[in-house]
Amino acid sequence: MAHYDYLIVGAGLTGAIFAHEACRQGKSCLVIDRRNHVAGNIYTEEIEGINVHVYGAHIFHTSLENVWRYVNCFAEFNNYVNSPIAYYKGEVYNMPFNMNTFSRMWGVVTPAEAKEKIAQQIAAEGIGEPRNLEEQALSLVGRDIFEKLVKGYTEKQWGRDCKDLPASIIRRLPCRFTYDNNYFNDRYQGIPMGGYTKMIERMLEGVEVRCGVEYRDLVAEQPDIAARTIYCGPIDGFYDYRLGTLEYRSLRFESETLDEENHQGVAVVNYNEREVPWTRIIEHKHFEFGTQPKTIITREYSANWHPGDEPYYPINDARNSALYERYRELADKEGSVVFAGRLGGYKYYDMDKAIAAAFDLVEDELGVRL
Ligand code: UDP
Repeated sequence: MAHYDYLIVGAGLTGAIFAHEACRQGKSCLVIDRRNHVAGNIYTEEIEGINVHVYGAHIFHTSLENVWRYVNCFAEFNNYVNSPIAYYKGEVYNMPFNMNTFSRMWGVVTPAEAKEKIAQQIAAEGIGEPRNLEEQALSLVGRDIFEKLVKGYTEKQWGRDCKDLPASIIRRLPCRFTYDNNYFNDRYQGIPMGGYTKMIERMLEGVEVRCGVEYRDLVAEQPDIAARTIYCGPIDGFYDYRLGTLEYRSLRFESETLDEENHQGVAVVNYNEREVPWTRIIEHKHFEFGTQPKTIITREYSANWHPGDEPYYPINDARNSALYERYRELADKEGSVVFAGRLGGYKYYDMDKAIAAAFDLVEDELGVRL
């Protein structure tokens, strides 16, 4: 007899939502995580009274009504609006690309002037349908902005030339002809007051959670621990990498506590020149309008990924997509294991899309529509 109805592997967003809903339906659940804490990559840790985003900055934004309503049951969101700055050789520009950026770059004042400037630059390039990130960026914002604000940053971020990257990456970024520095176009945005960890802990209230536990070790000891398993770890790892390893881009973080109240005046500064080794500096207190006497900053470096490193961004190129499909075929044959989440599905999810996917999982497994 299985001990639990569900074993949930991974205490991140997906695992926590599933566990919460399964418990509400009267199912017995055990959540495990190999790390010594819950919350996955949205884990925040309080240091000097500041909630530090330990695995990189996470800014919640969504246009999905049901997702927004749901997260507000577990946290109160503040009115933070992400408006990062791009630093290039002593100059600062507003992001995303908007009239403030164009005005600073060329001295233009009106949208018509900005559009004319960009049109001239696009004409000089003679690009038709953009075939890669470089052509896509050039045809959106022209050569000047590409050289200063896209090329160096993107090549640091992905470790590849902009000509060898898909156009879709840059289409995530808004480009608008208004003086609006809001990085996102979504209807709702904010940071959970008190940190993401508290939000996940609330989802997991009343759920049995064991941290520092490896799935492999647990099932070796107790093969029939649960009737069903929701596996939110890497899908290739589940199969012992027998078909090959799915590749990721990784990140490295260097944090520092500074004895000053306000270091950079904004939560996120991108460093867009190639010569600066980090891609951005996060000053965590600004996500929650902190007034503490000290501040904590984190330099973020993009890094090549080797098996065993933290996986961050899936590399959805032809090789990895084909390999994922082969793992997917194995997964589809599993009777009692369901793969979910960012790592289970090898997807680059924004948080709201991860939550929407968790809702679908809840519906498939538990028959409840959230
Ligand atoms: N990007 C850029 N310059 C910037 C910020 C972003 O060229 O200052 C490009 C870069 O190619 C990046 C993509 O836009 O990979 C998407 O950026 P986003 O901020 O969405 O990346 P994330 O924060 O999710 O890593």
